[in-house]
Amino acid sequence: MIVRAYIGLGSNLADPLQQLATAVAALAALPRSRLLAQSPFYRSAPVGPQDQPDFINGAVELETRLPALALLDELQAIEHNHGRERTQHWGPRTLDLDLLLYGDEQMDLERLQVPHPELVNRDFALQPLLDLNPELALPDGRRLADLRRHCPDNRLRRLEPEPAPPNA
Ligand code: ATP
Ligand code: CA
Ligand code: CA
Repeated sequence: MIVRAYIGLGSNLADPLQQLATAVAALAALPRSRLLAQSPFYRSAPVGPQDQPDFINGAVELETRLPALALLDELQAIEHNHGRERTQHWGPRTLDLDLLLYGDEQMDLERLQVPHPELVNRDFALQPLLDLNPELALPDGRRLADLRRHCPDNRLRRLEPEPAPPNA
């Protein structure tokens, strides 16, 4: 089965733009997967603890044959390779990769909930997804464009210039 998956990227430590650039390269090299598109990057205010730097966020669209949990394993391995340390909840991090959407699947496991449960509350996740595909909707039919209009404001600012498109 081939699935269209959307990954949210975030970083606020150790040169976040560089972290995201190397993360996109690692995602492009995932087994049984193809990177279809990369969103622009954004700067956003942190959620949770406020005594930490702003985040840089983005998203990518993948076509993958990896089952959802195998894809999560790969994402966590990439985080690990980027020096991710789990300390404070919602604290600063070198790299965070969240599986935001995995086709039309809904999963509610302890290790994996998709769609990501906080997606609807986060402009820094919704906006890059809309840049990738303005028609995106959740499995329950709610359109991301509508959710974006009603979600809290994280002082999102688009960074220029746009990252170069991936080599197909
Ligand atoms: P949030 O999930 O609110 O964005 P966070 O990204 O800071 O918070 P992490 O510490 O990165 O949370 O992850 C905690 C756990 O969340 C992971 O161990 C992972 O198993 C689980 N998890 C559940 N659903 C997902 C998902 N859709 N994408 C990534 N991880 C998930
Ligand atoms: Ca996250
Ligand atoms: Ca995460």
